[in-house]
Amino acid sequence: MTKANSTLEILLPLALRHGYDYLPPPDILMPIRGQIVEVPLGRRREWGVVWGQGQGDVDPAKLKTIHAIADLPVLPVPLCQFIDWVADYTLAPRGMVLKMVFGTKAHLRTKKARKVFSAPRLKPDHITPTLNSAQQKATDALLALQRQQKFTVSLLDGVTGSGKTEVYMEAIAETLRRGEQALVLFPEIAMTTALVERFTARFGAKPILWHSDIGAAERYAAWHQILSGEASLIIGARSALFLPMPKLGLIVVDEEHEASYKQDESVTYHARDMAIVRAHLQKCQIILASATPSLETMINCQNGKYNHLQLPFRFGTATLPEIKLLDLRDKKMRATEFLSPELRANLIKTHAVGQQAMLFLNRRGYAPLTLCRHCGHRMRCQSCNSWLTLHQSKNKFLCHHCGYHEPAVTTCPACKQEGYMAASGPGVERLCEEVQSFMPAARLAMMTSDSMASPKAAKDLLEKMTAGDIDILIGTQMMAKGFHFPNLAFVGVVDADFALGGGDPRAAERMFQLLQQVSGRAGRAHIEGSVAIQTCQPQHKVMQALAKGDRDMFYAAELEERKQYRLPPFARLAALILSGADEVAVEKAARKIIAKAPKIEGLEILGPAPAPLSFRRGLHRWRILVISEKPLSSILQNWLSACPRPRQIDLHIDIDPYSFY
Ligand SMILES: [Zn+2]
Ligand SMILES: [Zn+2]
Repeated sequence: MTKANSTLEILLPLALRHGYDYLPPPDILMPIRGQIVEVPLGRRREWGVVWGQGQGDVDPAKLKTIHAIADLPVLPVPLCQFIDWVADYTLAPRGMVLKMVFGTKAHLRTKKARKVFSAPRLKPDHITPTLNSAQQKATDALLALQRQQKFTVSLLDGVTGSGKTEVYMEAIAETLRRGEQALVLFPEIAMTTALVERFTARFGAKPILWHSDIGAAERYAAWHQILSGEASLIIGARSALFLPMPKLGLIVVDEEHEASYKQDESVTYHARDMAIVRAHLQKCQIILASATPSLETMINCQNGKYNHLQLPFRFGTATLPEIKLLDLRDKKMRATEFLSPELRANLIKTHAVGQQAMLFLNRRGYAPLTLCRHCGHRMRCQSCNSWLTLHQSKNKFLCHHCGYHEPAVTTCPACKQEGYMAASGPGVERLCEEVQSFMPAARLAMMTSDSMASPKAAKDLLEKMTAGDIDILIGTQMMAKGFHFPNLAFVGVVDADFALGGGDPRAAERMFQLLQQVSGRAGRAHIEGSVAIQTCQPQHKVMQALAKGDRDMFYAAELEERKQYRLPPFARLAALILSGADEVAVEKAARKIIAKAPKIEGLEILGPAPAPLSFRRGLHRWRILVISEKPLSSILQNWLSACPRPRQIDLHIDIDPYSFY
């Protein structure tokens, strides 16, 4: 692709938009795009990738020569295109996207230091699965698409417990038969242990695992098995999307509606959306699976862009649980009690017949707010001004926004009075206390991001629950993640009102998905399940759709509203967050950006205004929201390149934002 003696652009895994020019090494065949090379950079050496012909604008006297060519396979062409695409779309430096592909530099050691790894061989026909008629129909459709070997998107839309995994496993089996690689993305690493077991049982050998919690040696081996094409099935968190798979033939995004597919730090990308792009560049099938698909995906099914495959019933004899609303407005409850008499009665009844129950509350810790009953002082975070959550188990106040913590106190820091500090509102720790007060013999356990922090801790907790060593599981949204507990009969939702309202356009959708998923944990096997939801807004469309079991009613109403207010999926959003220590300077920089806004029809700009979380980690934050019907990346690229800003001000660009703080 390049002439002898011309320069090459080498992309480095650093915060750079473009690569640097280097001379090809003498006496070596000209390296091609995607070749991994080592180059001198200042006084050190850095691994990079040949990206194309050099710019040719460097003084020849200053040009340096490529030091070495890695003894590794070349990065596949569709992956190089993917890196370019993601960088252009998210406005992230191209080098930072490459960094995600490399994972860590340790992977790139030279020949001598590198061991040869062989991946276990998976057998596509290790077992013959038993499928029901709906599963068989969906499987046939997916297999037909898989054989076409072209880009297609399919939504596998099945109610909780309908057996979606068994269906997409058949598409994976077909991929393995062809000798291609399949990638399965999951939103939560806590789920992986159980899934690896299921995949291992189906394919007779272990798939390759990829997430932030695997050890360096395993990671190193996995990366090389993947790049060599030997690893045939890769299961991972969102970062696995950037792995160098030369023979990628299928991508599955399980629980595609999950907000945790969005990465907010560094390169801000949505793994589901980018997975669709990667499948497109790779010309392969992608399957999105969910019981509560995102509105983005639903509208594409309605428009005929995606294949819509439905599994309307639970597998076997299990039926969907009945959902009942408990109106909290007419309940006389003490301020320190959070469970209504009906909910308590349900828990007692479930326990009495030897079945398991689950209580859902999306607040970690003991209480979301602690205040002084003497002077009214509220415990706030010193670095971001949010309320501090009391964690009694750790004897600490913790900030859930920035991680700041301080020791719990009984003396008010403001008025110095002793004994007036009062916990306000419930967290899961406090619920445990309440349940234990009227069910002293029940065995309780908490399921939160704290108790599920490592796959090992998660595995222990899940095993205890499955073995029946836990009577009542009390937890946060962690419980909504597709776990299967056969003896779980009752699910109680303590407070269904917390997330409605606020500045997040997806709040109602997320609430609906969360409650539907949590409810879906009940009655998955032989026993009948039931769900009770405590709410002060029983007439809200989310609550009504849940109680009536009418998902389509909710989707139709929500889509109509989004259309009316020009929100996603009918418009595109971008958030520009400016931050700095000097608030006046931050505001000034934000106003300068607004002043240079291009005049484009249909482009709407909100702000600048202090961000909802206006002070975080010691920095003041201002936000500009941009709304447009056309893709925003190139508009923003041109606009922002004309807006120089002081060094002390940081600009964070979030295309398709999912968090609104
Ligand atoms: Zn006080
Ligand atoms: Zn904080």
